[in-house]
Amino acid sequence: MSYRAFENQELGFTTRQLHAGYNPKQHYHSKAVPIYQTAVFELGDYERCLRLFEYAEEGYSYVRFSNPTNDVLEKRISSLEGGAAAVSFGSGMAAISSTLLNLAHEGDEIIAVQTLYGGSTTLLARTLPDYGITGRFVEDETDIEAYRRLITNKTKAIYLECIGNPKINIIDIDKIVELAHSYGIPVVIDNTFATPYLFRPFEHGVDIVCYSATKYLSGHGVVIAGLVIEKGGFNWLNGRFPEYESFYKANKKDIGEEVLNKVMFTKRLRMRYLTDFGGHMSPQTAFYVLQGMETLSLRMERHVYNAKKIAEFLENHPAIKEVSYPGLPSSPYYELAKRYFLKGPGAIMAVRIEGGLQGALQVLNKVQVFDYMVNVGDAKSLIVHPASSTHFGHSVEDQASAGVYEDTLRLSIGIEDVEDLIADLEQALEGIVDGNKNR
Ligand code: PLP
Repeated sequence: MSYRAFENQELGFTTRQLHAGYNPKQHYHSKAVPIYQTAVFELGDYERCLRLFEYAEEGYSYVRFSNPTNDVLEKRISSLEGGAAAVSFGSGMAAISSTLLNLAHEGDEIIAVQTLYGGSTTLLARTLPDYGITGRFVEDETDIEAYRRLITNKTKAIYLECIGNPKINIIDIDKIVELAHSYGIPVVIDNTFATPYLFRPFEHGVDIVCYSATKYLSGHGVVIAGLVIEKGGFNWLNGRFPEYESFYKANKKDIGEEVLNKVMFTKRLRMRYLTDFGGHMSPQTAFYVLQGMETLSLRMERHVYNAKKIAEFLENHPAIKEVSYPGLPSSPYYELAKRYFLKGPGAIMAVRIEGGLQGALQVLNKVQVFDYMVNVGDAKSLIVHPASSTHFGHSVEDQASAGVYEDTLRLSIGIEDVEDLIADLEQALEGIVDGNKNR
């Protein structure tokens, strides 16, 4: 028996999503990844305890920092993403907030685009400023000079999303990475809407990837979960990050210079933010995310197939004013989508319905297969009205810059039979144009 698939990084994506990072021999030969449902681990002897707490030995002591089930998940996502190390969190927001806190401190600034998930916008615009960290939003995310104008010696990161929400826009990431790196600034991307199957941020030079694993990675809407992956090799000692210089000095003897030079961001993320703020993913949740990830590539192919068919149907429907889906040749992001999303630009789209709010409400009230909820990235199809939910309370101007209007609906296309989804939308849209004409 010479099973080695757990460590062979040359295997294909679908093979690695089933095998990477888990060696059954180290777990009583269990084929499924065991759930280590424990809060603590034996320390062994005094010397081992010291080595664990100095981070000189890799191992487990207390589950707020690490757990063997989570460890498999962290190795698996690192493999799929092509990164060097990962840390698992109890939610996407825990992953994102810890990432930003691990980069910026009082007096620092983070540059971000306006077309972010509402929770991330609020974090940058309202919560981090309470801790002295300023989120600076670019006015026009397509204009590289707009990013350059915001860079100061306090800028600690540029924060982006692979596909904007709910504008469903795509940014020319290569240009931003080039700009950021010329100033020694790392680029962080939330890749939730694409997953590593559809978009490969590290191959474009991005330094850190965040996920809400609540979405496609787990895939079935059963857990709240987050992940952070580091590409490895960013020069944190380039003069812009004094906190990393002191961390390096304090830990280079125990952890080793080679490890720190490769994955200092994730080491510091685990040792400072996971440990001090808590927020680790539970091992039960790690198991569910691993279970979901086993079918990631298959699900994403079906999601994209269904999304393309539905976008084409909606674009030709008289009750639809506008479809935002970068897979349509009419989309202003079509060329960028072809360049960055070789397997298709995801399965989330926004549509504007004729008849204003009333038209949008009719669709919400009449759909029978699509379900009305704020989540995305479920195997099942979901629909939501962003202005009254995900973007509720934002000013009309802020909503418009994120692509949200009173007649906007966001669809997250699932993996059902596409004919059923199209028939459902068709019956929900019926009469809207006529009704509109009669008003
Ligand atoms: N990032 C994106 C793109 C999201 O859509 C969401 C949630 O909807 C989050 C992050 C936050 O993730 P979570 O709900 O797992 O905290």
